[in-house]
Amino acid sequence: MTTISEYAQDLYGTTADELLRSLPEEAQREGLPAIHIPDEVGRLLQILILTSGVKRILELGTLFGYSSIWMGRVLPEDGHIVSLEAETRHVEVSRRNHARAGLEGKIEVRTGAALDVLPQLEGQTFDLIFIDADKVNYSNYLDWSLKLAHKGTLIVADNTWRHGDVAASEADESGRAMAEFNRKLAEDRRLLSTLIPTRDCGDAVSVAYVR
Ligand code: SAH
Ligand code: MG
Repeated sequence: MTTISEYAQDLYGTTADELLRSLPEEAQREGLPAIHIPDEVGRLLQILILTSGVKRILELGTLFGYSSIWMGRVLPEDGHIVSLEAETRHVEVSRRNHARAGLEGKIEVRTGAALDVLPQLEGQTFDLIFIDADKVNYSNYLDWSLKLAHKGTLIVADNTWRHGDVAASEADESGRAMAEFNRKLAEDRRLLSTLIPTRDCGDAVSVAYVR
């Protein structure tokens, strides 16, 4: 039987632009991991950006630039993305891909471990913050996100279910860290948040609104 993710991919796959369609395979051929967002998350990010009038975006975890291209595609003329990436190889590939997408002027990739680079952004605010880097630091990233947020900022976090790891009694370090992140997101009264299943319920994306 067809799964909902396969169905959605068939339904929408042909409407994705040429570049986005070819990037994942190309990156895999170059030895980069295929851990980019699924298309349903790309579409959700685009809808959130358009409906909330998002202009300033912070992304944690660039990889080969796939999710930032999804977001950059719908950003207004004066929109801007700052994306943080620890691996220099990923930074190189993502910059090349951003240029191919014609988005090099809108997306700025900063190299370094996110926790080292985030202090450079102190004092700025972002309309949408997309957390998708190392899972063990998600709670630290949430603390930073709240510092860099204003009323109405959207905080979106990928991979918040991890095949149920977050609810398992014997989860690994990443699973435990993610469970803690989910709890913080749910309990923080400054936030209104929810968890949306992705990848046939194998994973989830969390969306939080800063009140
Ligand atoms: N958002 C991307 C996928 C990101 S995968 C997309 O969907 O297209 C996670 C990325 O986070 C990897 O490229 C990895 O190198 C990077 N990363 C891991 N630890 C990091 C850290 N401490 N700081 C910044 N980036 C990190
Ligand atoms: Mg992810």
